[in-house]
Amino acid sequence: MLDFLKGCIGFVIELIYPMHCVICGAKADNYICPDCRENVHIIPPEYQQGFRPFRGEKNVSHMHVAFDYDADTRALIHSFKYRRNEFLAPTVSSLMNRAIPNILFLEECDLIIPVPMHPYDLKRRGFNQSELLARSVAEETKIPMAADVLVKTKITPHQASLTTEERYKNLEGAFAVTEPEKINGLTVLLIDDVATTGTTMNECAKALLAAGAKRVNGFAATSSRVI
Ligand SMILES: [Zn+2]
Repeated sequence: MLDFLKGCIGFVIELIYPMHCVICGAKADNYICPDCRENVHIIPPEYQQGFRPFRGEKNVSHMHVAFDYDADTRALIHSFKYRRNEFLAPTVSSLMNRAIPNILFLEECDLIIPVPMHPYDLKRRGFNQSELLARSVAEETKIPMAADVLVKTKITPHQASLTTEERYKNLEGAFAVTEPEKINGLTVLLIDDVATTGTTMNECAKALLAAGAKRVNGFAATSSRVI
């Protein structure tokens, strides 16, 4: 009887809010249709990316990006992040998880840490998209996650409109480690949604290394620039 009722409720919800593909609008399970899912280009292992050192700093040792940034994936990420559609986290995660076997440096990683948001921004958005993605990567890889060790202590203007130099200035000293003993001697895998110039990850890695991490690697869902 309970199953029947659940089925009825599910049917009514589906009638009122049918799931549609965020990219093309076709009816779809999990907000992405099979065609659009197939069109997402998962970046193969040989395309490990590296951030160009800036001011001689290269704090992220290895970097991998899960899928290409094109009109389709941009629509998906924008809807997830800027339209605050938290329900899209499993859709983005499922694409990101497809790239996990392609991360050549995964084995050396001891701890997963998401790029943090400032509490003020977190309150406005309602969720930290990087933390949702990191949780899924942690589940998939069985690598433990610590979401409260790295914090953002400075409110910074939106990065997208800034030059690389401005991005660095903007983020200088914006991150801090609350419990260094939790990362001491460990290789950290930093998780972000979109890595653009690598500035954010580089600054996060700087704070982690200063606090005693052995090494910092990065894994982002996508990258809006060639890095
Ligand atoms: Zn579609």
